[in-house]
Parts: sequence; structure tokens; C-alpha cells
Amino acid sequence: MIPAAFEYHRPDSIDDAIKIITEHGDEARVIAGGHSLIPMMKLRMADLSHLVDLQQISELKGIIIEGQSVTIGAMTTQHELIAHEELAKVAPIMTEAALQIADPQVRYMGTIGGNVANGDPGNDMPGLMQLLHASYTLAGPNGTRTVQARDFYEAAYFTAREEEEILTSITFNSPVGGYAYEKQKRKIGDYATAAAGVLITKDGGTCSHASIALTNLADTPIYCEEAVSILTGSDLGAGAIEAATMAAVNASDPGEDNRGPIEFKKHAAKVVIRRALERAIERA
Ligand SMILES: Cc1cc2nc3c(=O)[nH]c(=O)nc-3n(C[C@H](O)[C@H](O)[C@H](O)COP(=O)(O)OP(=O)(O)OC[C@H]3O[C@@H](n4cnc5c(N)ncnc54)[C@H](O)[C@@H]3O)c2cc1C
Repeated sequence: MIPAAFEYHRPDSIDDAIKIITEHGDEARVIAGGHSLIPMMKLRMADLSHLVDLQQISELKGIIIEGQSVTIGAMTTQHELIAHEELAKVAPIMTEAALQIADPQVRYMGTIGGNVANGDPGNDMPGLMQLLHASYTLAGPNGTRTVQARDFYEAAYFTAREEEEILTSITFNSPVGGYAYEKQKRKIGDYATAAAGVLITKDGGTCSHASIALTNLADTPIYCEEAVSILTGSDLGAGAIEAATMAAVNASDPGEDNRGPIEFKKHAAKVVIRRALERAIERA
């Protein structure tokens, strides 16, 4: 299908983009890589009179690594994440997860900002950002503010971002220890049926830090607090892995859709969580 007619804007600063979206209210929407928004417009599920293209805004691009801190501009593409050698060294889980998104053509256009701002439960980056305890910087007519990724997602396609705000960057501390992002999908290039990210740090034989988050297993990404507390301080043995896996499965709340019934999704969740845990522990 062909999208409905719209007016196209291409500002070259964040301030100008905010002015345009503030002027046109809910009739305007920013467009980044377009690989989620354009399909919605073609299906007439998004009907917008003004599209504000962010491609020309250089302040929104690039990756800055300073000590432990990693800041990624919202308009950085998934391909750029994968190709960034320093990022691969300080946060290899970013590369591992980004490589499992869609296919190279989508990754050349799709941006990290579009992926996390979209609010689609199928997007991989929101769960990953919760795993990394990332914070999002939002710029709006009243200035900028930050929101934790773990507080950002309210329901499918509903987030803490106000309509006239633009997500400008994402910041997290580079993770230490073992990591894994495990994704079950129907075929190459597909969204997750179930996906899990895990971070594990060991101190001797004990788990000193853990993080677990899930993708496409509820209307929002899920940070699995109970599983994290089971793992932290444990010996990471078979009993702890089983208990943490079941706690994370119980935290999921998938719905039935064309990827399968709820029972199957819970089974897929159990498989990906266990595999991610085992791989992260092995790497820790
Ligand atoms: C065939 C196919 C397969 C895919 N498979 C996967 C997959 O496996 N995993 C996955 O995670 N994704 C997948 N995607 C989605 C893809 O990664 C998208 O590119 C991405 O989710 C959205 O990024 P974008 O830059 O294209 O955003 P756009 O489509 O331009 O925007 C998406 C939404 O976010 C808003 N937005 C964008 N940028 C900002 C910003 N800076 N501030 C505020 N709001 C903003 C837009 O207004 C829009 O509502 C797939 C897409 C396709 C077409």
C-alpha cells in the first residue's frame, strides 16, 4: 500500500526539529531509519501529516567512549554499532545483539534511537538497554532530561517519552564479565519469538553481579529482578541456574500470536534464558 500524503521536513539541528514537532503536535512524527515507521504508514496504521527526518542532524550521530561510559547518538545505525571496533571491545554484547537484528539491509538504515523509542515489544535493543541499565537522554521544548531504560516502557508502543520530545542519545557503563544475548526466531531476519540477555560477573566462585532482561515476552521488555537476586551471591551452579531460569520465565507474560501459543512462548523463553545464562557464566 502507499502511505497517505504528508509534508516532509529535514531540519539540521535538534532545536529546529523540536520546533517543528511542537508546532504540529500529534500530526507530526520524527523519522529515523524508517524501517518501523514506513511499514506502519504503508499499512495506514500511522497516519501523519508531517514527517520530521532526523538524518541531517549530525549531533545525533556517533559513539563516544570515555573511560567506562559509552554514549551512543540516537541516529547511529545498527550497522555502525556492529562495525565499531572499540564498542565491540568494551561492550561486546552490543555487537552480539545487533547482529541478530533483521538483516544487513535493515541494519544499514535502522537506528538505535528508532529501535528503543519505538516501543515495539519485538525490538531487541530495549531489553538490551534494560540489561545494561542504560539511560536515555530526551530533548524537548522545556530542555533535556534523562530516563532509565528500566523505567521507560509502559505498554506496547507507549513509553515515558512525551510527544514533542526527541531521544538524542543513550548512555551506559561498559559491562564487565560474561555476557550473552540469545534469540529464538522463526527464520533469519525475523523478530524474536523469545530473546534473553544476561550479564554475569564472578568474584572467585561467587556471582558478584548479574543482570537478566527479556525481549518479546510481554508488552514491554522485562528486567528480571527476582532472577537477578537469586543469582547474585550464588555459586552459579545447576541449582541457581534452574531457579533463576524459572524466576525469569515466571516474570514473562507473552501473548498468543502468529509466533505461537503462550505455552510454546514460555517454553522458548526457558530455552533462551538457560542458554544465555550458561554462555554468560562460561564467559565470566
Ligand atoms: C524486515 C524487518 C525485520 C526487522 N527485524 C527486527 C528485529 O529482529 N529486531 C529488531 O529489534 N528490529 C527489527 N526490525 C526493526 C528495525 O530494527 C527498525 O529499523 C528499528 O526498530 C527502528 O529504527 P528506525 O531507525 O528504522 O526507526 P523509524 O522507523 O524511523 O522510527 C520508529 C519509531 O520511533 C520513533 N523515533 C525514531 N527515532 C526517534 C528519536 N530519535 N526520538 C524519538 N522518536 C524516535 C519514530 O517516530 C517512530 O515512531 C525489523 C524491520 C524490518 C523491516
